[in-house]
Amino acid sequence: MSDVNATASSAYRQILEVIGSVEPRIAAATKQELTDQRGSLKLIASENYASLPVLLTMGTWLSDKYAEGTIGHRFYAGCQNIDTVESIAAEHARELFGAEYAYVQPHSGIDANLVAYWAILSHRIESPTLERLGAKTVNDLAEDDWEDLRREFNTQRVMGMALDAGGHLTHGFRHNISGKMFQQRSYGTDPTSQLIDYDKLRADAKEFKPLIIAAGYSAYPRRVNFAKMREIADEVGATLFIDMAHFAGLVAGKVFTGEENPIPYGHVIGSTTHKSLRGPRGGFVLATAEYADAVDKGCPMVLGGPLGHVMAAKAVAFAEARTESFQTYAQAVADNAKTLAEGLLKRGVKLVTGGTDNHIVLLDVSAYGLTGRQAESALLDSGVVTNRNSVPADPNGAWYTSGVRIGTPALTSRGFGTDEFTAVANLIADVLEATTPALTKSGARGKAKYILDASVANSIQSRADELLAGHPLYPGLEL
Ligand code: PLP
Repeated sequence: MSDVNATASSAYRQILEVIGSVEPRIAAATKQELTDQRGSLKLIASENYASLPVLLTMGTWLSDKYAEGTIGHRFYAGCQNIDTVESIAAEHARELFGAEYAYVQPHSGIDANLVAYWAILSHRIESPTLERLGAKTVNDLAEDDWEDLRREFNTQRVMGMALDAGGHLTHGFRHNISGKMFQQRSYGTDPTSQLIDYDKLRADAKEFKPLIIAAGYSAYPRRVNFAKMREIADEVGATLFIDMAHFAGLVAGKVFTGEENPIPYGHVIGSTTHKSLRGPRGGFVLATAEYADAVDKGCPMVLGGPLGHVMAAKAVAFAEARTESFQTYAQAVADNAKTLAEGLLKRGVKLVTGGTDNHIVLLDVSAYGLTGRQAESALLDSGVVTNRNSVPADPNGAWYTSGVRIGTPALTSRGFGTDEFTAVANLIADVLEATTPALTKSGARGKAKYILDASVANSIQSRADELLAGHPLYPGLEL
């Protein structure tokens, strides 16, 4: 790998020179981003560092080709190489996850989820309009028949995890298209344990009768029992859609097995490639054979032309994830999250659900008198990059919040282990203890401004720098 890094070093130097000859400010910002990423503790749970082979694969002329359609069935001539790239990426995805079908065109996680929803709707919808017209699925309908169908679509229902319980916008949130396409009801977590209450979910599903149950999360620090979710879906006749965008790396790395492995239980699964899976920015959909044809309608129904260069990078990332070393990495991600949580608990930091068993730790910072926004900013001043996040029943809403979400995928990619994450827990606790909310003119506690002595922030940044120096990002890559 060090040879690869040395070669990449000279490649990148030349690449930046070429870019700089056209727009020097872009070359400078690209270089600066590397400096910034190298110099801070990246704890954003949804981010990672893709390998240099993955990054380099994105910078090619595969980007220049239009290839709307599916493998071997394109709306443009000359797509033979895109066919090859997409086939390899899909083959790796199927093998990596043990899935019956893989569709690797989605440009992002949201696109993947939209493709998945459309596939489920078009496959499942049983409407008087379809019956009257003798059409098997909505994809067989003539344009004129859509007016009636549109009215019927409004009656379709999705049940997803509530945003403040850790669900994602695409699981039926009212400001996302999923909340407009569907009648929606959300399920939350038990107010005491903050864990998913499967009995309540079952009772609500029986009453609401959703077409789709959406499982998966962005900010839930625990594993989900997908066998139980499937059982509930089967009981109410729902399709189980699982969004594994966040934890795909833990599935690929075989950390989530048995009832916690989404693959045998989800009818359709949406994912990103760039979070714990450590690939390029992008999405993909896995499905049972039953849903394969419907998923293939992603382009042109939801997507435009697939990004050939990104599908190529997905193939490289999937190939990397099929190695033993990726399994070791994925296990370390989960182990490190436990270490981080234990370190924070020792310092008296309150954690949603009291801990973690995935890659996410969700801090409730209200006991420090801080909002999530204040804590996020104070941590950033100290070289610790996180993002604020709601906690269940958050009194501060989704903007200020009472929580901070952190995750271990990125720093684990840099080689951080038990000692480093124990140290990181102490740095975070030190920042929280040293920060106070600024008072407003009326003397009340503000929600945005805060006070953190610059000398404290600087000393924490120096301790962070020491940890980072021990685990350089892209070692050997000198620009
Ligand atoms: N699904 C989940 C669970 C996510 O956490 C996210 C991103 O944060 C997405 C989907 C959307 O991914 P993207 O930003 O690639 O559209």
